[in-house]
Parts: sequence; C-alpha cells; structure tokens
Amino acid sequence: MAGKIIIDTERCKGCGLCVAVCPKKCIVISKHSNKNGYFPAQAAGSDCTGCAMCAIICPDVAIEVFSDSDIVLEPSKKKNKPTLIEEKA
Ligand code: SF4
Ligand code: SF4
Repeated sequence: MAGKIIIDTERCKGCGLCVAVCPKKCIVISKHSNKNGYFPAQAAGSDCTGCAMCAIICPDVAIEVFSDSDIVLEPSKKKNKPTLIEEKA
C-alpha cells in the first residue's frame, strides 16, 4: 500500500519521534529551521506505506497521512479523540 505524509513544518518542534518510529526510514530532520527556530521533520524517499505511526506518535499533531488518496489520520481528528473523564463516586 502506498502512502504519503504532509508535515506542518511550522507546527513541528523537531523532537525526532517520527523519525525514530518510521519503519521505512522515510522521515528526516531538515537542515533548515522554521520560524520558531526548530529544525522540523521532512518527508524523504518514496517508501511510505501510510501506516500512520508517525502521525500517532507526534506530540504536536503536525503530520497528516494519506493512503491511496484517502486521508488515514489528520490532526483535527486526532485532537478530538475520546479522553478519559474522572468518575465521581
Ligand atoms: S506513515 Fe508510516 S511509513 Fe509513512 S512516514 Fe509515517 S511512519 Fe513512515
Ligand atoms: S514527531 Fe512531530 S514534532 Fe516531532 S519531529 Fe516529528 S513532526 Fe516534528
């Protein structure tokens, strides 16, 4: 399955988690900083499978994943995922 990612480089803080987790090694850290002074991640190569592991691990929800032209995971959907609400006795 072919995939593609789009990274919001201005939102990215360059933590490198997506680089570490990508099983296909198709994300690298840019040599150029963004306007906030971080060196952002950027897509590299064409081996992306659309597995979405990079988008899931990104703490800044900066990655959108596409697979065969369908959106697999987009930041707005991840933000709205259900959260645990404390139960009252
Ligand atoms: S979707 Fe999967 S294969 Fe593609 S860049 Fe992200 S982690 Fe790598
Ligand atoms: S995990 Fe997110 S914030 Fe960290 S380098 Fe990748 S895109 Fe940037």
